[in-house]
Amino acid sequence: MQFTPTREAGLTRLEAFLPNAGAYYERTRNHDHGLDRMNVSQLSPWLHAALLAEREVLERTLENHSRSNADKFVSEVFWRIYFKGYLEQRPTIWRAFCEKRGDALADLANNSGRAKAYAEATEGRTGIAAFDHWARELVETGYLHNHARMWFASIWIFTLKLDWVLGADFFLRHLMDGDAASNTLSWRWVGGLHTKGKTYQARADNIERYTSEHPDGPFAAEGISDEAEALEEEIEHKRQDLDLPDAKPGSPLDKRYALLLHDEAAHHVPLDLPHPPELVIGAARPDARSPEPIGDHARSFAQGAVESGVEEAAQAFDCPGRSWSEEGELNQILRDTGVTQISLGFLPTGWTKDALWPELQSLPDDISVKQSLPDLQRLTWPHARAGFFRVKKEIDDVLGEIGVAAG
Ligand SMILES: Cc1cc2nc3c(=O)[nH]c(=O)nc-3n(C[C@H](O)[C@H](O)[C@H](O)COP(=O)(O)OP(=O)(O)OC[C@H]3O[C@@H](n4cnc5c(N)ncnc54)[C@H](O)[C@@H]3O)c2cc1C
Repeated sequence: MQFTPTREAGLTRLEAFLPNAGAYYERTRNHDHGLDRMNVSQLSPWLHAALLAEREVLERTLENHSRSNADKFVSEVFWRIYFKGYLEQRPTIWRAFCEKRGDALADLANNSGRAKAYAEATEGRTGIAAFDHWARELVETGYLHNHARMWFASIWIFTLKLDWVLGADFFLRHLMDGDAASNTLSWRWVGGLHTKGKTYQARADNIERYTSEHPDGPFAAEGISDEAEALEEEIEHKRQDLDLPDAKPGSPLDKRYALLLHDEAAHHVPLDLPHPPELVIGAARPDARSPEPIGDHARSFAQGAVESGVEEAAQAFDCPGRSWSEEGELNQILRDTGVTQISLGFLPTGWTKDALWPELQSLPDDISVKQSLPDLQRLTWPHARAGFFRVKKEIDDVLGEIGVAAG
């Protein structure tokens, strides 16, 4: 399957997958069928870049399936929203991850034994056939099936005894959908840090069963640990209140404004702008994902998404498109065009915000910066305080409030 970083390609994939989003998805989603899989949507790269919005995926799904038939798929889309909202209320998890990753990378430089084990794991040379396949598949394709991500993380932590932050970093560097919230929190979930004390244990018979239809499967995972003792951490990540922007971008947008497209809001259509911008600015920051080198697939999808987003917005609004790629450049772009307001899709906790926010905040006082967040997230995030269960209970109410109902 081709992952072309345009909105059109995402819409095409959505329409192709829709017939399978009901009972077939629920029945088969745990099976890894290989790259041409049709039992899962593989929409995550487009959703991460917001070339597609969660709302339209849910809307099209419920136009094609009853609510009960599509329950599993709808829930999975809400898992993504849940993780985003959870991290937004506990941003110290992301900060702690970044710090711990820095320490773990420095430790590799000083510890040849651990460096060797890390190189074997990331290069697919551990001798555990299944794991080695996924390490290579991740680097070569930029995507892994959800079950493979779970098995991989479990073997990384409990069999290879490598630091979970290095595994999470390896994923972030290579996944086209690499996401600060879903990735960090899923690794923590596997390791027993998200649902405290509850871990995910990979089992060889389960791996063999669910990879039997993979073109290179079934995969063997002999010798993996049959123990998965939960990781522990000293720090407690306290919840902080959400401080959410308006639903509509920068409302009221009464001045000439520039639309800023970035890695996590790369297209104007999901932003539902109240009126056209004077200028479109693209800021892709894939290299901010990690201090280590970023994989080709992850980088080119992120860059391509922002580039295609800028091109399409410039054409749709008949306005110029510019690229903000270097520090200090933004203010100059705004001065050149006389624009005094910037509107952008919400910058969630993660590397895109880390890379862009300091410069946005330090713009002169006469330039205002307005973020927007869709109603779906605004209504769901307040429930993402603890486990997913609280969000699941609210799904129908939220769908009703945003006007998405089963057909
Ligand atoms: C260790 C680990 C790391 C992960 N890292 C990421 C990541 O960096 N970015 C990312 O988007 N997802 C991540 N996931 C979640 C999940 O694996 C992917 O979202 C999913 O595999 C994407 O494939 P899909 O689009 O075919 O999903 P589908 O099964 O078709 O689901 C539809 C959409 O729902 C959302 N979704 C599905 N499952 C999950 C889930 N378990 N958690 C959160 N959202 C979900 C995704 O947006 C997905 O596109 C991770 C899971 C694990 C176990």
